[in-house]
Amino acid sequence: MTSTAIAEAPAPALTPEHRKALDWLKSGPKRLLIGGKWVDAQSGKTFATVNPSTEETLAMVAEADSADIDAAVVAARRAFESSTWSGISPHERTRLLLRIADAVERNAKELAVLETLDMGAPYATNLGRAMQVAEIFRYYAGWPTKLFGTTNPMDASRFQYMLREPMGVCALINAWNVPLVMAANKIAPALAFGNTAILKPAEQAPLTTLRLAELIEEVGIPPGVLNIVPGFGATAGAAMSAHMDIDKIAFTGSTAVGRMVLQASTGNLKKVSLELGGKSPNIIFPDADLDRALASAVDTFCKNSGQICSAGTRLFVHESLHDEATERVAQIAATYKVGSPFDADTKLGPLISQRQMERVLSYVDAGQSEGARLSLGGQRHGDVGYFVKPTVFSSVSNTMTIAREEIFGPVLSIIPFKDEDDAVFKGNDTEYGLAAAVWTRDASRAHRVARALKAGRVWINTYAEGDPVMSFGGYKQSGYGRELGAESIEAYTQTKSVLMRL
Ligand code: NAD
Repeated sequence: MTSTAIAEAPAPALTPEHRKALDWLKSGPKRLLIGGKWVDAQSGKTFATVNPSTEETLAMVAEADSADIDAAVVAARRAFESSTWSGISPHERTRLLLRIADAVERNAKELAVLETLDMGAPYATNLGRAMQVAEIFRYYAGWPTKLFGTTNPMDASRFQYMLREPMGVCALINAWNVPLVMAANKIAPALAFGNTAILKPAEQAPLTTLRLAELIEEVGIPPGVLNIVPGFGATAGAAMSAHMDIDKIAFTGSTAVGRMVLQASTGNLKKVSLELGGKSPNIIFPDADLDRALASAVDTFCKNSGQICSAGTRLFVHESLHDEATERVAQIAATYKVGSPFDADTKLGPLISQRQMERVLSYVDAGQSEGARLSLGGQRHGDVGYFVKPTVFSSVSNTMTIAREEIFGPVLSIIPFKDEDDAVFKGNDTEYGLAAAVWTRDASRAHRVARALKAGRVWINTYAEGDPVMSFGGYKQSGYGRELGAESIEAYTQTKSVLMRL
């Protein structure tokens, strides 16, 4: 059921922010931002972005293709070379980033409503994320004045120093599962370190990226520094990856598409950073605080309806705990309400699309046919919207399809282990390496296992906590390069060594 009507908010009463978000949706077609102007696609094409809770069209969005990417690259290149951007003082760049953070904070509720309408996670979650976005811009606001080079030891006849400089024109391509945060993770460092940017949000949920760009424009970023080009992967995304005048590409999405982006980037050998998929192990030892560990285990596989790259989708429990853990996890997950993301007690909103829902349900079939025990859920919830109930499989073997492939839905695999070595071996026995967690009261074991796990981020006695100061990125086929933290300097700058003979 897809209608072209602009979706009204779910009853009951609308908050002012909800009304503001709906007014913005109704204010007209959503255009591309190129060179400081909001423009239609050159082809005149548009596409619909759909509310996954109601299956109604929220807005029509201009659909960029290669001609628009070319125009965006020209604008971004001109802005990069212009003194209005490359010549401004680091202090001015800091001020701009702080103003963006303030604008995001002021408009956080409206952004959260739009995000909820467009991608379906609960409103409270999205409000927290909008505030997180303000913090990401504030974090990067501190960097322009601290982007140090070095002077290197030389004999007295020579002077040698290293400068850290921007990459140039950066293409940023995002997935749909946390659009606003991912936009901030890329725009903030790109701008803080002096680059210009062209961002393609995912076609499934482009709205908050567009609204964020309006806010960024309003604080006085020079034209062409940030360009936004919603569109499809095979056209706009592929054109960005292959473009000969883009210097860097930062991609977040599936491992399969990440590989395509990397291959397409070889024409001009642009620098590439890849944030890809995951199948993260969450390991609970018998001495752990089980109440906290099991509650957290449910939270991580249900959050965002399981559409989180770092979700702990493989829950390893000591074999002595398997039955008790299964029963308790299923009991807790059964209390998680599936429904409208605007209801305060909803824990799981819809998945992003019919396609994603069908994909997730096909993994439920695979789990059952390969002999895993379905201990909870496994079905769609309702018949409008793409809702799937929390689903728990127990007695899973690490070789089964549901334990190996990224499902990106609220599906947990509980896998027994014999001892520490077995837990580490099985935890690492995956092509991915994005995140992992270990739960134990034994501090030596905690650090031993954290060190042995091959993942870009490891939590001890917690899951999914983050902070802009912490870098994020993958080992193995979860990608390379790091977002956030000091390490993101490497992703958005390059170094120049200068030598002078005295
Ligand atoms: P996807 O790979 O299908 O799409 C991601 C983006 O790539 C979209 O903008 C899409 O339009 C674009 N794209 C598609 N084909 C392209 C091509 N040929 N060239 C260039 N761009 C192309 O991923 P998805 O389904 O949108 O998102 C889910 C995936 O993203 C999961 O695998 C998840 O783990 C991953 N993800 C990773 C992180 C992380 O930080 N590691 C964060 C969020 C999501």
